[in-house]
Amino acid sequence: MNFFIKRQLLQFFFPSRCPVCGKVIGAMDRFCDECSDSLDRYSGSFSVKGASSFTAAFLYNDKVRPAIVLLKDGVCGNADYALGGELADKLKADGLADCIDIIVPAPLHRSSQRKRSFNQAELIAKTIGRELGKPVCSDAVIKQRKTPDQKELNRIMRSMNLKNAFVPLNTGPLRGKRVLLIDDVCTTGSTLAELTSLLLSSGAAEVHCAACCKTPPHRSKKETELS
Ligand SMILES: [Zn+2]
Repeated sequence: MNFFIKRQLLQFFFPSRCPVCGKVIGAMDRFCDECSDSLDRYSGSFSVKGASSFTAAFLYNDKVRPAIVLLKDGVCGNADYALGGELADKLKADGLADCIDIIVPAPLHRSSQRKRSFNQAELIAKTIGRELGKPVCSDAVIKQRKTPDQKELNRIMRSMNLKNAFVPLNTGPLRGKRVLLIDDVCTTGSTLAELTSLLLSSGAAEVHCAACCKTPPHRSKKETELS
């Protein structure tokens, strides 16, 4: 069934809700007007080691956080549609839509995926694939080792934490291709850099990275005290 018709039909039984405030919205809307106006769009110049480009839809802060929480919890069907749609628009606006051949989501360890029953980066990748008309390869790379939460670690420990955490699996479809690597939130870029290196060494021609949200640049304690 056509995606547009399916959403219109579902609207009768399960009205779409804004993934930030929970207000009922139109079947094809991503956010309510108020939340859409208040969210901070990403306009930074962050780069990921080894990647040809990096972009994000939103700056990660308290305003967009509810949508990310819903995306990870999987209790709101609209979070992947809203965040993925916004990221697809950003990729088009940045001229990247025509620079990629295939989309790869950042993998979760299988125990995390089993617990959650889905991979949120894969949901976003599928939304972008539909918007841009590009294929998604969800099993190109797997996470073989469960790692401590990156949030708890500093930059050096994050990088060490990820050593050999990922391994290539089905990389045939990526050979010679321009890959778009997708994650939900990018903090230091360690995960994306590790995956980029793996995809390039597995034969990808180039890797572009994109995340729904990018955390604000790190500020030293001194800078924070000054501001
Ligand atoms: Zn709202």
